[in-house]
Formats: sequence, structure tokens, C-alpha cells
Amino acid sequence: MKKAIVLFITIMALSCQETQELLNLTHGVYISNITIITSEDGNYHPYNGHLVIKNDSIVYVDKKKPTLSGTFEQIDGTGKYIIPGLIDSHVHITEVQGMLPHHMEANPELAKQFTSQMPNSYLYYGFTSLINLGGISNEQLTAINTLPIHPDIYHTGRSGASVANGYPMNFAPEQYRFESTPNFIYMESQAAHIPDKYDPADHTPKAVVQRIKNTGAIAVKSYYESGFRGMPKLPVPTKKIMNELISESHANDLVLTVHGNSLEAHSFLADVGVDVIAHGLWNWETYRDVPLDSLPLEVKQTLDKIIEKQIGYTPTLTVLSGEEALADLAFLDQPELQKVVPKKLLDWYKTEEGQWFAKELFIELETGEVHKIYGNIQAHAMLALKYLSDRNALLLFGTDTPSAPTYGNQPGHNGYWELQLMKEAGVPLDKILSSATINNAKAFHLDANIGSIKTGKKANMLILTKNPLLDIEAYNAIEHVMIGGKLVTREDLAVKN
Ligand SMILES: [Zn+2]
Repeated sequence: MKKAIVLFITIMALSCQETQELLNLTHGVYISNITIITSEDGNYHPYNGHLVIKNDSIVYVDKKKPTLSGTFEQIDGTGKYIIPGLIDSHVHITEVQGMLPHHMEANPELAKQFTSQMPNSYLYYGFTSLINLGGISNEQLTAINTLPIHPDIYHTGRSGASVANGYPMNFAPEQYRFESTPNFIYMESQAAHIPDKYDPADHTPKAVVQRIKNTGAIAVKSYYESGFRGMPKLPVPTKKIMNELISESHANDLVLTVHGNSLEAHSFLADVGVDVIAHGLWNWETYRDVPLDSLPLEVKQTLDKIIEKQIGYTPTLTVLSGEEALADLAFLDQPELQKVVPKKLLDWYKTEEGQWFAKELFIELETGEVHKIYGNIQAHAMLALKYLSDRNALLLFGTDTPSAPTYGNQPGHNGYWELQLMKEAGVPLDKILSSATINNAKAFHLDANIGSIKTGKKANMLILTKNPLLDIEAYNAIEHVMIGGKLVTREDLAVKN
């Protein structure tokens, strides 16, 4: 009762003070005189102002100076910019880049070094929130969530909702794939290839989505992939299954995000109307050889449907660039990589053993041919993205780090690369920023907590020395990263060799 009275008096006192806020801080940060760049709707009106952070929350944002008492740290923001922390809505934090399980077993120290640096590497490039779109275990979540400093991790449960024997279950040998995909969906057409011990009733869309919800997931990941790189034709979900996944996800307040990068997949997913497509449309199938500056009618019609239904579109341009990178060893010599990848692992990538995936992909190809092939696909991916961006599609920033066992997609660094590729594709800088902040927050129902700089939201923010609405390099001009109210100097997040 006493508490209620105190609260009432405090509210009264505040409401009488129209011009001055009095904030009493014990564990606080005051950032003064900084250019605030944030938006609730994708329109930006930067202004010079002041922010106060108390514990892990933003408690004050205004043009006026606050009146403060108590103890707090003060940061002079003169000449600097502050933006919300970045959100990558497509990552796989359970992997060690460039390694399969047997490489990790043979090189445990390298794998360990990578895993312990990985959360800091994402933060180094300003990624304060990550959505893991693959299976993750409680142990893996706890390992990150108990670190003193780490990005916020959101997830899609113990495995994706893959149709039986479909993508990506097909990568695992038949005797292991069902065990490693506890949320697979039973399809009658696959009955002969599903072990008898699995009860179909446990693998309906309804049962699967319920199980995913129970793990604390925020989304359901599914897949529409009929195969690539010479795979046999893979089973794909029917319309009925996909519609059930949508309705069950929504009934559980979950977002349905679906893998797909071909015209067939995007057309199917746009028709049924999923919430998010987890990749861009770069596999134009029969139109794969059309000129690089032309958008075939059928591609255009599919993109129009994505715009009309405001389906979240995740370009993931670095999927292509991160594979193409394996054709040039020089990729590994970029100084930026040394900030986010342990040196011993960078050295290992150059060894015979570390080059295994590069060999598997490109053994019969000259470097020039690789660039030509990937250049064509990427040009189509960028054309589709530009078309969508010009017509106010819902762009969601996502990288798919790593998209394959490639060392070409490194934590944090890959996000910065993706931002640059979006710019190269012709997406304006304001849309790039909203895609990586408020759009992702809204699309994944996280906007009550993150995605913009607003009183009451979590204090995940970046202090930059360049303006991201004028210069893409701003995303590599991070001075401080604030994660849950904790202010970290960028260089403290880099690899210590
Ligand atoms: Zn992925």
C-alpha cells in the first residue's frame, strides 16, 4: 500500500513539472548533445538531443537537457551520432564457420576460440540482436546468455519445421536426420522413408508449432527448397501444410519465416502469404540467362505480390558473396577480419584441410569463371532488391551468417558486408537503416523492446563518428556499443591475439 502512495506522489510531482525532468540515477549513463537518428516508421528526422539510460533501459530522450541527480557516467556526444543497435534476423550462431563436426573434433582449440569470440564479433559490428533461424539447444543458449556481454539472442526452437526428408534434413545421413530435426513435418508421400517410431500425430504443423512455442521461440522457420547444386529433387511443403503453419504460428503469436530463393519458392510463398521470406529471389530458374538489367515479367509479378502483401523480404546478398569469396585466398587477408576471427583460425582456413569446401565447390572452375557465375546471380538478386526497395516493399535486414560451411560469412563482418551490398544494389541509406532496426523489430514482434531509441525500450544503441544516413562507412565507424545499458568501447570487443 505504501508503495502505491509513493508512486502516486511521484507521478503527481512529475506531471506538475512540465519543463524539467528530474532523474535520480545510481547506475546510469547520460549521453549529451548527440545527433539522434531513430524512427518508428522508416522516416528519419535526426536532431540534436540528450539521452539518459538507467540500468538496462532508456529513460529519457529529448532535445532539452535533463536535470539529473545521483551518480552516473557522462558521455559527451558532440559531433557524434547515435542509432538503435542493429538486428540481424537471419543467423546461425551454432556453427563454427568453415568447419564440419569432424573438423571441430580434430581442431577443438580453434573451435573453442571461435565460439568464445563470436558474440563479441557481432557486437563489434553493432549487431546487438540476433535471430537464430535454425535449431539451437538450451545449452547453447545458456552458454551465450550467461556471458557478461553478449547480443540478445532470439530463436526458432530446437529445429526448423522441415518437411520429412526435405531441405535441410537432406544434408544429414538418413539414420540421424530425424533425430536432429525433432520438429520435422510428417508428409504422407514420405511415409515409406520415415522410421516407424515417429507418430504422425506428433509431427503435424499444429504439434510442431506448439513444441516450438514451448521452447521460448519467437518464430517458426520453415523451408521451400526443391534442391540446388545437383541435389536430387527434394520434397517441399504442400499449400495445405504451409497454410497450417501460418495459422498455427499466428495462433501462438509466432512469426513464420521461410527459406526460399528461387522463383518457384518465392511465387509459392507469396501466394500463400507467409510473414517473412528468409532470402532474396536470386535463382531465376528458366530466366537465369536473361540480361543483367532486365526483370522478367514472371519475376516482377512475384515481387509485386510480395510488395502488395507486405511480406518481409530478407535480401541475404552475402549468401552468394560469402561462397564466391572461397575462390580467392586474398579474402582472408582483409585487415577487418582480424578484428573478428581468431588469428589461428584464419591461418587454418588457408591450409589444405581448411580449404575443403572451396575445393568441393570450385574444383573444376577457374577463378574467373566463379566470379562470372556468382556475378550473374548476384546481379539478379540486386535487381530484384532494387525493384522492391523502389516500391516500398518491407525490407528486413538478414545475412544468413553462415549460409553454408563457408569461412566467407564471418560474424559481424558479414553484416557490415551485407549493408554495403544493399547500398551497392541501390537501396537508399535510410531504408538500409530501417531494415536493420525498426522493420526487423516490428516484423518479429520485438518493437515493444528494441528497434528504436525511445523511452522505455532496452538500451541497445551504437555511438558512431559518421552519419549512417549519409555514409555506409558509418557502420564501420562505431565508437561505442551499448548493450542492455552497458557501454562498451568497440576495440574491447575485437579479437585479442
Ligand atoms: Zn539460414
